[in-house]
Amino acid sequence: MIRIPRAKRKQKAPQNSLRGKKFPFQSPKGMHDILPQDFLYLEKIEKAFKKVSCFFDFLRLEPPLLEDVRLFERGTGPNSEIVQKQMFFVKSRSRSESSLVLRPEYTPGIFRAYVENGLTHSLVPAKFCYWGPVFRYEQPQRGRFRQFYQMGFEILNTLDSVYDAQIISAVYKILAELHLKGIVVKINSIGCRSCRASYVKKLRDYYKNKSFKLCNDCLKRLKENPLRLLDCKEERCQPYKANAPQTLDYLCNNCKTHFKSVLEYLDEAKIPYLIEPTLVRGLDYYSKTVFEIFVEGEENALGGGGRYDYLSESLWSTKLGAAGAALGVERVMEAMKSQKIVLSPKKEHKVFLIYMGEEAKKKAFVLMENFFKEGILVKESFSKESLKSQLRQADKEGAEIALILGQREVFEEVVILRDMKSGNQETVPIEKIVPQLKKRLRFL
Ligand code: AMP
Repeated sequence: MIRIPRAKRKQKAPQNSLRGKKFPFQSPKGMHDILPQDFLYLEKIEKAFKKVSCFFDFLRLEPPLLEDVRLFERGTGPNSEIVQKQMFFVKSRSRSESSLVLRPEYTPGIFRAYVENGLTHSLVPAKFCYWGPVFRYEQPQRGRFRQFYQMGFEILNTLDSVYDAQIISAVYKILAELHLKGIVVKINSIGCRSCRASYVKKLRDYYKNKSFKLCNDCLKRLKENPLRLLDCKEERCQPYKANAPQTLDYLCNNCKTHFKSVLEYLDEAKIPYLIEPTLVRGLDYYSKTVFEIFVEGEENALGGGGRYDYLSESLWSTKLGAAGAALGVERVMEAMKSQKIVLSPKKEHKVFLIYMGEEAKKKAFVLMENFFKEGILVKESFSKESLKSQLRQADKEGAEIALILGQREVFEEVVILRDMKSGNQETVPIEKIVPQLKKRLRFL
């Protein structure tokens, strides 16, 4: 065996030399890194999402990140803000291929996947859930990013009002699972095409003689998408919004019965809601039920959705009713932080492996391979050299057991097992360390 001479002590890189040295790259505007400390929240949220998805039997579906732009132009709607201003186009190498965009929302992609994969006969209704990134070209501000994550539910191929209520119940349950306080669902009905037409006419008439007082966006909305006049956040438009005609007064009998039935389900299940007559939501495919969900202390909605019976018509010229909703993951996370929901990291590693000298480092490296195979979680600190600093770290990390390997232990094929609380140590033959650890870990 070739003995490699012990490496000279490595010169420590002077840490301070990095201070003040400017790094020339940043994440793109409105897009952020998700750092390890946030995963504590993300994992909790994902756990709640999975629990609810599993309970209601939503099947996971993940469409590609890129989709044909026409899917959104026709599905989300040519007059929607998403299509008009918010899509990120991806330049393709081939001119003959249709334009691709980064998905600005999931719903049209989920519907496309449902039809394209021939699931329209086998899954009726089809219940899908999703979790992933979404891209919108926005002016970044608190709670509004260009890349953010959405988790959501879609129930396709049904007209039944019970599913509008089930979607609301599902998003409500996620927030309740996370112990968020003051959850409230704001809900409205924007009717179907026939009753909405007479409402929109009334709304136009109402706003027409106020047009000189409206903001520029509202002037545009008045022409292109009058329902969205009710969405305006500008101070000067608020008084008109407050006195505008309300959708609920113009619903046809069918839409009225549908809405009443959704509210009855929510009442029965004791899901708190507020009827919000100005709630309309911006997308063309919505019909009947629309809702948003809020929690105490947050101005922005954490999620929203509703019934979208017209998506199938615009994409496929068929009538397949559907309902769905999405929650913004970052907004849920922010709400948890501002409501001071504290999560402490689960202490997974109870054993800390300490080495002294090059031979012991090599042995420790091999031991780690063994621990992995045996499913024992062991932490190391190969970048530290002294016993003292490694013990200090083991202590800082709350390890219950330290395994210590020096030159002598390597030679004698043993390991020192130290109980970090009592400081008691014993020497264990190396081939017995796995069963010994398993036995001790059972009681920790
Ligand atoms: P929407 O698809 O617009 O109905 O949005 C559903 C949810 O996604 C919202 O209630 C937010 O929680 C979240 N969301 C929408 N847009 C953004 C954004 N630009 N940045 C962060 N979260 C967003």
